[in-house]
Amino acid sequence: MAAAQRIVIENCSIATVDASDTEYASGHVVIVGNRIESLGAGRAPEGLENVVRRIDATGHLVTPGLVNTHHHFYQWITRGLATDHNLFNWLVALYPTWARIDEPMVRSAAQGSLAMMARGGVTTAMDHHYVYPQGSGDLSGAIIGAARDMGVRFTLARGSMDRSEKDGGLPPDFAVETLEGALAGTEETVKQHHDSSFDAMTQIAVAPCSPFSISTELLKQGAELARRLGVRMHTHGSETVEEEKFCHELFGMGPTDYFESTGWLGEDVWMAHCVHMNDSDIAAFARTKTGVAHCPSSNARLAAGIARVPDMLAAGVPVGLGVDGTASNESGELHTELRNALLINRLGAHREAALNARQALRLGTFGGAQVLGRAAEIGSLEPGKLADLVLWKLDTLAHASIADPVTALVFGAAAPVTASFVNGRQIVEDGRLLTADEDAIARATREQAQRLARIAAGQ
Ligand SMILES: [Zn+2]
Repeated sequence: MAAAQRIVIENCSIATVDASDTEYASGHVVIVGNRIESLGAGRAPEGLENVVRRIDATGHLVTPGLVNTHHHFYQWITRGLATDHNLFNWLVALYPTWARIDEPMVRSAAQGSLAMMARGGVTTAMDHHYVYPQGSGDLSGAIIGAARDMGVRFTLARGSMDRSEKDGGLPPDFAVETLEGALAGTEETVKQHHDSSFDAMTQIAVAPCSPFSISTELLKQGAELARRLGVRMHTHGSETVEEEKFCHELFGMGPTDYFESTGWLGEDVWMAHCVHMNDSDIAAFARTKTGVAHCPSSNARLAAGIARVPDMLAAGVPVGLGVDGTASNESGELHTELRNALLINRLGAHREAALNARQALRLGTFGGAQVLGRAAEIGSLEPGKLADLVLWKLDTLAHASIADPVTALVFGAAAPVTASFVNGRQIVEDGRLLTADEDAIARATREQAQRLARIAAGQ
């Protein structure tokens, strides 16, 4: 067998995001196969064999690849609509359009979402997909194929909805599945696509949409299914005051108590938003190690409120960052969420050090790996972990005079990505994808957006 090939990256700053937040002002990283072999201060050791590439990364900061923990790829083709609505009104405005999606639209939207994130330093993506209109094709297969082709590590949170307008929910009747159909479709997706190995590129989670679009039975049986199959669980929780009111009216308790009563708190669960949490809700998440996907831009866009991330971190709740669907965060970028998380949480806490630059970087890397259940594999740069890492260019006008590289990355303008590696394979060079044609994707997504708008308008 041929000896594994090595890639050496040198002369860069490194933020490892390991348990001690180890940083090197000038250091090296050695990749062998799909793993990080070694890293440290100064130049790489002399005498390494099978070095196929040596990158002089002068002027760069190397960090773990960013991990996105909440998204809805299909929304890429419904961006810029209902721009001045709160969550409920926005959902009511958009569901009739979303209910018309089909496989070509979903494939194209997934490519757009993935491309935008990958070129901005995301190495692990996730898609919470929950709209499966009857006869719309193999939507899960299309999404998973798009991620595989682009070379991005990926979790599909296989979503579902079974509470439509006739049952007091928000989605139109024809946009939801039956309880049995949702559970069977989810189980089939797990069996067909979930890979539980150490360096898996595709994983599946069980992910009913949200309390106001699913039945209590779907939550309970979804939790049982996930635990029987040994996969993670994801949903939306405590996003708005309206949701809190809805839960009190229908179930006689707040969202966190409702989730706990249906088996939805635990170390195998992560939940998007968690904006409206009181002290006892945060304590319940900390006690059960339930994870949170913090989505600051989406929460601002929909005027949902500010999640108490500093309090969650202080209590020991695992927290990652999420773009959320691009119908509520048109930029679709995760690296700018580091900055937004830091700024919004300082506003929310009325405290100047509520979140610092290192904590923001940790949320976007190791925190994300934790909530996706992959902290042993990704999220920090350490020997033996997978080679998912990003070279941020910080020596141009935008960043060169900022005192410290991590501060430059988080506080400064969106930093250019010179190179991004996933599983040891380079997928981005000088801000452009190596694994897909961005211009072709842009054209296709525009065509699919127009086709969806025409179909939704009944033309
Ligand atoms: Zn969402």
